[in-house]
Amino acid sequence: MNKLLSSGLINENTPFQILADPALKNTGVNVLVKREDLNNQFLSGNKWHKLKYNLLEAKEKGFDKLLTFGGAFSNHIYAVSAAGRLFGFKTIGVIRGEEHLPLNATLNFAKSRGMKLHYIDRKTYRQKYDNELLKSFHKMFGKFYLIPEGGTNKLAVQGVAEFVSKFDVDYDFLCCPCGTGGTLAGLIKGTSKEKQVLGFSVLKGGDFLSKNVEELIYTDKTMHYPNWIINLDYHFGGYAKINSQLVHFIKKFEEKNHIPVEPIYSGKMFYGIYDLILKGFFPVGSTILAFHTGGLQGIEGMREKIKKNIVCTIN
Ligand SMILES: *Cc1c(COP(=O)(O)O)cnc(C)c1O
Repeated sequence: MNKLLSSGLINENTPFQILADPALKNTGVNVLVKREDLNNQFLSGNKWHKLKYNLLEAKEKGFDKLLTFGGAFSNHIYAVSAAGRLFGFKTIGVIRGEEHLPLNATLNFAKSRGMKLHYIDRKTYRQKYDNELLKSFHKMFGKFYLIPEGGTNKLAVQGVAEFVSKFDVDYDFLCCPCGTGGTLAGLIKGTSKEKQVLGFSVLKGGDFLSKNVEELIYTDKTMHYPNWIINLDYHFGGYAKINSQLVHFIKKFEEKNHIPVEPIYSGKMFYGIYDLILKGFFPVGSTILAFHTGGLQGIEGMREKIKKNIVCTIN
């Protein structure tokens, strides 16, 4: 069992990198980046920490097959397919919408890892946890361990929390991007209450995220976490939406810091952090620790979009 945890497949000791960006000079604020983009080429960033205890439980309970849900560009689908190959599970990805050929980079990768792709229409997808539908999946695919869309559940929160609780650096603020809020929930549970935890919604209308997070962190009524907020100001129009300002920021950020970021999650978080620093949001002398959640394979899928977007902006 613990072979999974000590398999050597995952780098458990990625660096905390200090940003020496001239743009941050004289701001009186330090930024550290936990480089979880480097933990594994395919099962990167937060996805490994979210999946870890799910994989363990699946193994413990004797499952040899994982089934999960996602859109055609989902980093979670990508990660589950990679995990299946690395740790010896068959995988089924239930994909929202119709099949489009040729497969995009995400689904092509998933397929190359042996993931079976099963498409369902958007309406059915909304009822994906419906008993009847799950029953039909069991008929089709046999026994499987179910991982929810985005991989967010109690075990995911546990994995992230445990990881963060072992950080041996000093910091005042802990930041991450939010899709479902599962990672943020883990940061809140894993860090001490003197730290402030700051999530950046990458979704438009991300107000619902706070409720998601509350459900994940308040596992018993005596708990109290007063030290977190979700910033809703840096979604750039919504999930996977970008503009030339963001693209320009990312280009400069990568040049100055030699840290790759993608525009869907980490690019928006770093944009938000820089903007808040320049606006004086963080007290002078504070140290911000940014959790680089990886997902760099998503860049491929965005290249076309970025090109088009720049053209649109210039026009
Ligand atoms: C999936 C993902 C997230 C979102 O994590 P949540 O736990 O759903 O909030 C953030 N960053 C990257 C790179 C991701 O792939």
